[in-house]
Amino acid sequence: MREKVEFTAVWDDDLNSLLESLGVLAEMTAGKANCVNCGRQVNIDNLGTIIPTIELVNFTCDDAFCVQSVTSREPVTSSG
Ligand SMILES: [Zn+2]
Repeated sequence: MREKVEFTAVWDDDLNSLLESLGVLAEMTAGKANCVNCGRQVNIDNLGTIIPTIELVNFTCDDAFCVQSVTSREPVTSSG
């Protein structure tokens, strides 16, 4: 049985709880999260993609190019 987590499908009401569960909600609301592609500050309003890695969580802004730069390369899957 395959498990696949699509973070792009989680939005709006679930977004806050998702960010909190990842431990980055405070970081984001404090303006300390930046797009890994262009470096722009990312907040709830312009969040494009959430990229959980082993030790930290990266983000992109909602710029189509930034989203595509990460989503087209490596699909986000759950390692369990
Ligand atoms: Zn960006």
